[in-house]
Amino acid sequence: MAIATINPATGETIKVFEPLKDAEIASKLDLAGQTFAQYRHTTFSERSQWLEKAATILQQEKADFAQIITLEMGKPYQAAIAEVEKCALVCQYYAEQAPSFLADVPIPTDASHSFVRYDPLGVILAVMPWNFPFWQVFRFAAPTLMAGNVGLLKHASNVPQCALVIEDIIRRAGFPPGAFQALLIGAAKVADIIADHRVKAATLTGSEPAGASLAAAAGQQIKKTVLELGGSDPFIVLESADLETAVTMATTARMLNNGQSCIAAKRFIIVESIAPEFENLLLDKFEALKVGDPMQPDTDIGPLATPGILQDLHQQVQTAIKSGGKLLTGGHPLSHLAGNFYPPTIITDIPPDSAIAQEEFFGPVALLFRVPDINAAIRLANATPFGLGASAWTNNHQECDRLISEIAAGAVFINSMVKSDPRLPFGGIKRSGYGRELSIQGIHEFVNVKTVWVN
Ligand code: NDP
Repeated sequence: MAIATINPATGETIKVFEPLKDAEIASKLDLAGQTFAQYRHTTFSERSQWLEKAATILQQEKADFAQIITLEMGKPYQAAIAEVEKCALVCQYYAEQAPSFLADVPIPTDASHSFVRYDPLGVILAVMPWNFPFWQVFRFAAPTLMAGNVGLLKHASNVPQCALVIEDIIRRAGFPPGAFQALLIGAAKVADIIADHRVKAATLTGSEPAGASLAAAAGQQIKKTVLELGGSDPFIVLESADLETAVTMATTARMLNNGQSCIAAKRFIIVESIAPEFENLLLDKFEALKVGDPMQPDTDIGPLATPGILQDLHQQVQTAIKSGGKLLTGGHPLSHLAGNFYPPTIITDIPPDSAIAQEEFFGPVALLFRVPDINAAIRLANATPFGLGASAWTNNHQECDRLISEIAAGAVFINSMVKSDPRLPFGGIKRSGYGRELSIQGIHEFVNVKTVWVN
């Protein structure tokens, strides 16, 4: 795949980038290694100041950064602004919290003094996707840099300008030049970089095949990984739920980021008694959404990021229909438009045990399932290989307790859509990956938890 900016709203190739040559990769690895030797001795106060400055740059220049995001991957401009603001928030959060998250923890033993300390590991590689091209990177960079590690970024090949701009923000904020470097390289180079002795660990957000490949390469080298992969999050609506609010949030939760979010609600599991009303209300909401130029303020849904994503999604929709699904709206690419546009789509009646019901739909397509009761709802919610997030709607306390304890996912949100928050751990189980980002758990992923015993 070429490393290039191709406007997904028009198909126009804006700029093509030469991938780094082997010698250039080697010199960036040298710089990362040399920088770590110094950087690990910087103080929390210095790192916090630099990260605060990064937050200020993000806030001050968010309009420019949002333009680049929308140009490269097609999310509506206002959503790109919100993404940049959230990056500022995660920088501020770790600038403030990291010193306490990483403070020594005294543990009384029969030593005269014993404690746990958190040392940095070294160079950490992040392989990142295009769907939140700023957020995914900053939620890695902020804790990593505060912990005293240095970062290397292999960003998705369709967002090279985002990668370079992020590197520049971090440098302008005051971090040493080798503390965070973008590598414009294809996926085929990742295994070699993981094998380099200076790279100590890696994290990947993206598809299952990419995650499996990175984890295999890291496993060969006995290096730690964190994986944040796909999801097919359930959105369960039970009889006592506030239906209007549930439908409004169902629409937002499915359509966020033109439907291309790992934690988007993808399978809507509705109890029979309210299913017809839910379907009608959802249909109205979906049909009212405006698809078009993501730079226009009244656009709800922009293009999908690449022609490949559009093709794959449409193939899945056709398979769902062949498997018995019924199309309520949408279902065909908007081929009269030049870019990768797909309409809001609803499919009902897919047999829950069909192969396609197990797949993640990465675009504006909602799959609706009817169930008789909460038992069937929980069973169906858990019946995929994924376990990232789940949203459930009920006003019954007993149901609420059961959903929290019985849903197999990294997060359960009751009467709210699933979202990430710097204060809360984020990640999945099963084929959605392992490890956690954000919060105290996130910053502890890439540190040496060192036991110290002094007599
Ligand atoms: P990928 O998983 O292919 O891309 C994500 C990142 O991984 C990119 O930087 C990519 O680089 C890199 N990568 C790809 N293959 C490998 C590999 N074998 N070894 C190391 N790195 C690799 O996602 P796609 O863009 O192809 O999207 C396909 C599907 O992935 C989506 O439909 C969706 O299901 C899922 N996805 C999930 C995301 C999430 O947030 N969890 C985000 C994006 C996608 P390059 O761009 O150079 O190929």
